[in-house]
Amino acid sequence: MDITPAVNPEDMHVARHEFEMRAKAEEAKRGKLEEQERTRRRELHHMCCPKCGSTLLTVDYKGIAIDECSHCKGVWLDHSELEQILRLERTTLDKFVKLFR
Ligand SMILES: [Zn+2]
Repeated sequence: MDITPAVNPEDMHVARHEFEMRAKAEEAKRGKLEEQERTRRRELHHMCCPKCGSTLLTVDYKGIAIDECSHCKGVWLDHSELEQILRLERTTLDKFVKLFR
């Protein structure tokens, strides 16, 4: 005697659709939690030295904003700032380097 229940294709389709909708909702929830975590970390670490945790101070040099640690004197660059510095002429670059000595 076969005790396997009959499978209605329409029920399978509804179950699959419900599963996909719930999976999509879970993915959206996960994305929102990840964004909240990124925001929390940004607020916690913004303008703090990645090496020693002290406050970073911004020094503007010819329109390039350089972040320097108030404690360990580490110098940190945002995206594309290294390229901007490398485009400076040699004499300007020498003056720039002296700023951080
Ligand atoms: Zn530091």
